[in-house]
Amino acid sequence: MDFLRYTERSAALLNVDLDGVAALVAHLADRESLHDQVTDRDCMLLRKLQRELRPVFEAAAHDDPQAVVAILNELMVRYPVTPRISDHSGVLHLHVAARTASLAELLAGEALLGLAALVCDLGPSRLGTCAATPCTDVFVDASPNASRRYCSERCSSRASVAAYRARLRADASG
Ligand SMILES: [Zn+2]
Ligand SMILES: [Zn+2]
Repeated sequence: MDFLRYTERSAALLNVDLDGVAALVAHLADRESLHDQVTDRDCMLLRKLQRELRPVFEAAAHDDPQAVVAILNELMVRYPVTPRISDHSGVLHLHVAARTASLAELLAGEALLGLAALVCDLGPSRLGTCAATPCTDVFVDASPNASRRYCSERCSSRASVAAYRARLRADASG
């Protein structure tokens, strides 16, 4: 299954400001077949999902694997995920069934299936929230050494510039 892609999409979904249909369409830029299903109701439901999923990333950032697992298990009860075996790539793998679900349910199912698989395969510490305050974006860490601390290159370099300036100030005053 493309669980890493699902997981990265779920992080992207949490980081987007879903203030309307246009924002959700923009989030789905690479999934044109879903565009004509986007409704205000999906945006509303996905804003709720954003609030419910954020604690998963926060628990991981606070090194609380039991909370990561507990919150995900609880969300999978509330958002039942219907998996489907697909062979569109020539290799059998799992997808979330799209036929019966609303767009919000589909994206919720993909996020939960992806996060659950990632937590089982790579561990709950692979999720996090950006360490470059005031940014609060979440991220998935697929790096080989599991050392990611920032949501993006931009935040990473902003944090190193800030640390460098803090050192200069400390040198100047000390
Ligand atoms: Zn696939
Ligand atoms: Zn950031």
